[in-house]
Amino acid sequence: MKARAFTHAQPRTLEQALALKAEHGADAVPLAGGQSLVPAMNLGLARPAMLLDLNRIPGLGHIRVTGDTLSIGALTRYRAVLKDRTVDESCPILAGAVPHIGHTQVLSRGTIGGSLAHADPAAEIPCVILSLDATLIASSARGSREIAARDFFQDYYATALEPTELLTEVRVPIATGRTGWSFQEFAHRRGDYAIVAVSVLVWLDASGRYERASVAMAAVDATPIRLTGTEGLLVGQPPSDELWASAADAAAARLDPPSDSRAPAAYRRHLARVLLTRALGEATARATPSAGRIGAA
Ligand SMILES: Cc1cc2nc3c(=O)[nH]c(=O)nc-3n(C[C@H](O)[C@H](O)[C@H](O)COP(=O)(O)OP(=O)(O)OC[C@H]3O[C@@H](n4cnc5c(N)ncnc54)[C@H](O)[C@@H]3O)c2cc1C
Repeated sequence: MKARAFTHAQPRTLEQALALKAEHGADAVPLAGGQSLVPAMNLGLARPAMLLDLNRIPGLGHIRVTGDTLSIGALTRYRAVLKDRTVDESCPILAGAVPHIGHTQVLSRGTIGGSLAHADPAAEIPCVILSLDATLIASSARGSREIAARDFFQDYYATALEPTELLTEVRVPIATGRTGWSFQEFAHRRGDYAIVAVSVLVWLDASGRYERASVAMAAVDATPIRLTGTEGLLVGQPPSDELWASAADAAAARLDPPSDSRAPAAYRRHLARVLLTRALGEATARATPSAGRIGAA
């Protein structure tokens, strides 16, 4: 199939792009890496009147650490996340999740902001960003606002962005202390969307008990979800195989995952239990006393 006719705007500044968004709203559809939008257009699933091409706008592809925050521009390509040591050093779970996404072409063109705005419930980046308690920056001609990752994903492919807004940045708090992480995914082939993915961060206190935990899952609901019940079960407990198994059993029992052509619900529930058990073990193993940041060995 061919995409419907559309106009193509190539703003050279963020201000120009936001002015076009203010004028055309939902009719001006942002084009970032095009790895989801262009296939959707070719299949007739997306029919934008105007493509608002973000690729000529400078200043949206940054990766920088300011104090205890890692900031990533919306137009940052997956490949840049993999190449830039800053992400691996300050937020290794993000660098650890990216290789699960797609293939060489997708990694070269796809963007962090595109993945978040697209909000596929089986995508890796939204799941990790949710587990990291990140803040997303939405900009419009009227200014910018912060949206907590917990409030950003609203339904299948639906976010809290207004029609006149662009996602411009994501800010991730850099975790310190006795912390560890794990990203686990099962997909039919390497680079396919997750059948289930799990993103886990843990913090241990001086006695080795869980002080805090953050658990998110992809592909088990309409959006990536936080498993706050599981997080609560861990806090105050010393790590053990039994605790991980019972926490994973309880989490899987509460899930109501979808059945589709890729996997039935029961299989997703089984994967959720297995991957969560693994993730809790790996994250805890990484949370060594010498770690000054998540994942430091
Ligand atoms: C073969 C193949 C395999 C893939 N496998 C995976 C996979 O395993 N895991 C995975 O997560 N993804 C996968 N993808 C999708 C890929 O990750 C996309 O890159 C991503 O979903 C969208 O990023 P993008 O930059 O390409 O955005 P685009 O395709 O350009 O845009 C996607 C959507 O987001 C909107 N948008 C983009 N940027 C902004 C912004 N700054 N502000 C507001 N709205 C914006 C667009 O208007 C559009 O609606 C795959 C894609 C292909 C083609």
